[in-house]
Amino acid sequence: MPAQSMDELVSLCKRRGFIFQSNELYGGLKGFYDYGPLGVELKNNIKQSWWRSMVYERDDVEGLDSSTIGSQTMFKYSGHTETFNDPLVECKECQARMRADHMKDPKICENCGSTDVTPPRQFNMMFKTNIGPMADESSAGYLRPETAQHIFANFKNVLDSTSAKIPFGIAQIGRAYRNEIVARNFIFRVREFEQMELEFFVKPGEDEKWHDFWLEERLKWWEAQGVARDKFQIEDVAKEDLAHYSKRTFDLNYLYPHGYDEVEGIASRSDYDLGSHTKEQDKLNLTAKVKKNEDSTTRLAVQDIDTKAWVVPFVIEPSMGLDRGLLAIMNEAYTVERLDDNKERIVLKFKPHLAPIKAAVIPLAKNKEVLVNKAKDIKNTLQKLGLGRVLFENSGNVGKAYRRHDEVGTPLCITVDFDTIETDDKVTVRNRDTMAQERIAVADLANYMQDFYKAG
Ligand code: ATP
Repeated sequence: MPAQSMDELVSLCKRRGFIFQSNELYGGLKGFYDYGPLGVELKNNIKQSWWRSMVYERDDVEGLDSSTIGSQTMFKYSGHTETFNDPLVECKECQARMRADHMKDPKICENCGSTDVTPPRQFNMMFKTNIGPMADESSAGYLRPETAQHIFANFKNVLDSTSAKIPFGIAQIGRAYRNEIVARNFIFRVREFEQMELEFFVKPGEDEKWHDFWLEERLKWWEAQGVARDKFQIEDVAKEDLAHYSKRTFDLNYLYPHGYDEVEGIASRSDYDLGSHTKEQDKLNLTAKVKKNEDSTTRLAVQDIDTKAWVVPFVIEPSMGLDRGLLAIMNEAYTVERLDDNKERIVLKFKPHLAPIKAAVIPLAKNKEVLVNKAKDIKNTLQKLGLGRVLFENSGNVGKAYRRHDEVGTPLCITVDFDTIETDDKVTVRNRDTMAQERIAVADLANYMQDFYKAG
């Protein structure tokens, strides 16, 4: 059962070291969060799972890790300088700032109810900076608001340096920055976040087929992360709500504690992107309406083997927010169970491959050297399996350790006791979900863990 409120998740995240408010020490910086010891592990595991599915398990996708600052020229031609805007409304009474399209009535302040509000004006959400020592317009650059533009800019580099042929894709995971008018709902709407994006280049005319294909692939991926497809409302975005580049978009809206909201968009972008950034636009029969490009140095097109005609590929883009994804995964995993003794336990039932800690090795008593040394040995051996983090947990109270590891979603707890040393060289392995405990020989632990994680 998912969390009943965002507060439950926020509180668990802070208490157990998943996510902290950024700059808390100085009063907090709105719209920025820091991922703590467990948050960074969970994030890395989600990234790995996405990368495995989008790159390693395919032969038609290559990876990229581009710079996060882009030139003003790039964002001029992508359309962001002119159109990456949200409508800003300000209340003259209480000075609150709001996004008009998120308000029930943009003529009434959401904060104080006043009707003395400004008409909406377009506010550009990109963070602007200067590149080099001169702080003038000629040196302006932007922190990228999405990872996609650098992928388009590298289209030819990837094509020429690999054996890729369309249909093929370029995948990237990385930071994006948006100066949101209102940051809210914990890590759902923030000003610095991570995206996981695939730009998949296809022959014009095959775009609809690939669009459906990627919707299906993405739903399968979500299912493997513990978010079943019936947890999404799949929105076929209405024509009038589509972004300027989009031919058609499917939004995956997940039921967050604050309501259904977008976690991923799968957009069919026609030849808008490569067409915007290419040179010699007029020779390429573009279908999309693009700004005339006078600065591009490269033709972003491929030659048809049979007809020899130059074709600008169409793009299908599954684009997911990592932070929003993590929040959905965490919400799905969050479970409150009532036990036989009528006590409650909170368990994060992560899929094993996503669990921040793969196993905790716990000596029964923290001040008994033989137990501690044995537990450390076991930890070191299991760590070498490469399954992820294995933790040596020396808190001295096994019951408390179990509760703590339930709450952070550790699938296995391994306890070393006096029998381990004195009689059988076996340990107690406790399963997070069933709470069942079994005795396993230390010599069999590595195989046990490998099998467990293979199955999960
Ligand atoms: P929204 O309508 O919620 O502002 P968007 O449609 O502008 O989102 P896209 O431009 O499609 O978002 O970006 C792709 C993905 O990046 C989104 O599906 C979302 O998961 C993530 N994302 C976008 N903006 C933010 C943000 N401010 N904070 C966290 N994640 C974000």
